[in-house]
Formats: sequence, C-alpha cells, structure tokens
Amino acid sequence: MSTLFISDVHVDSTRPEILGQLLTFLETNAMDAEDLYILGDLFETWIGDDDPDPEKHRVVHALHDLSHSGVRCHFMAGNRDFLAGDVFAERTGCRMLEDPSLVQLFDVPVLLLHGDSLCTDDHEYQRFRRMVRDPSWQQDFLSTTVDHRIAMASQARDASKTHGSQKPPEIMDVSKTAVNAMMREYGVYTMIHGHTHRPDIHHFNVDDHPATRIVLGDWYTQGSYLRWSPAGYSLEPLPR
Ligand code: MN
Repeated sequence: MSTLFISDVHVDSTRPEILGQLLTFLETNAMDAEDLYILGDLFETWIGDDDPDPEKHRVVHALHDLSHSGVRCHFMAGNRDFLAGDVFAERTGCRMLEDPSLVQLFDVPVLLLHGDSLCTDDHEYQRFRRMVRDPSWQQDFLSTTVDHRIAMASQARDASKTHGSQKPPEIMDVSKTAVNAMMREYGVYTMIHGHTHRPDIHHFNVDDHPATRIVLGDWYTQGSYLRWSPAGYSLEPLPR
C-alpha cells in the first residue's frame, strides 16, 4: 500500500530522456501504487488542452492507461501547466486538485501545494501569478491561436530564465513566514510541495507544533519521487 508523489518533471520535446524516464515510471513504479499525486509542472509548458505537442500526448495516454488500470491519479497544476483543463482531466482520468489541497494520508492530514504560492518574497512573480491565474485572463489567452500561445509561452520561459538568474537564491525559495502562516491557517503541520527544485525534508516547529515540510525533486538530471506508506515516507531518487 503506497501513495506516490512527483512534481517538476518538466516534460519537453528537447529533453527526450526525461519523457522516457517518466513513461517508464508510470508503467512500473506507479502501477504498484494506490494513488499518484502530480504536484505541478509535469509539463514545461501547456498552452491549453489543444496543445498539439506529440510528446505531451504520450504522457496523457500513459496517465490514461495508469488511471484506467485502477491507480487513482491526482493532478495539481504548477506555474508551467496551469492551463491544463477539463479536456486534460477527461483524457487522463486525473482528478484535478486545487492549490492548496488538504488530504489524509493514512490518517495524517497533509497539505499539498505546487509551492510557487509560498515564494512570497518574489513580488514580481506573485504579480505575474495573480494575472495568469485570473479566469478572465485565461479565457482571453485560450481564445487566441495555438501558434500565438506557443510563441507567448516560449517568450515567458525566456523571460523567467533571464529574471530568475538575476534574483538572489533566497528570493526564489519559499518564505518561512508564508509556510508557517499556511500551516496555521489550515491547522495542518505536514506539507508537501515542489517548485523550488530543492528536494529535502525539513523538520521545525510552528508555535508549539512539530512541523514537517517535504520538498519534491525536479527531473532535470534524474527522476525523483516521494513514497508514502503506513510504514513511513521517503524521498527516492531515480538515477538515469
Ligand atoms: Mn514550478
């Protein structure tokens, strides 16, 4: 009995080795689990459910096969694939999760997030996030042509690379104040998120509660997943 978590796979046609490793993971490790949680940035970009990229369609098919074999698949959007919508959910069989979402993992209440909402010291990014998460902005964007959206996504990617490399590393990490506030708000002292590409398990205290923050790893140089079972949890690297 186990629940698996992945995030930040960043599937992209320029990195076939990541796609190959993800497909293997979905056909092997994930098949033995009861639940698979995808906590954002599965795709490097997702310009809408009419995204024509054949690599992404292979992932959609693999998720369809996985969910139809009886593994419950859950999908939370990240800052790259927040335009995954109803058609994506229908085709993959994934249950779409709000960010944040509260779940019970073998009787432990756990808060799940992509992680970008916790990077509150990056004011410029938070402004961008508010804009693109606005339903009317999304509706306008999705009404433009596929070619236009592909061009815009690649522009946004270049801009975030340039700006990201100019920001001090602590700005790009989660804010401890935001983490503590989120735990207090939900009364939940275990959190799982990705986004920062800094896989780790942090133990600390919030008020008088022992608290745990598990950060999932990205898949740029190797695979990474969290396995949670009644016996405990561990972050597992997947060497490539
Ligand atoms: Mn992210």
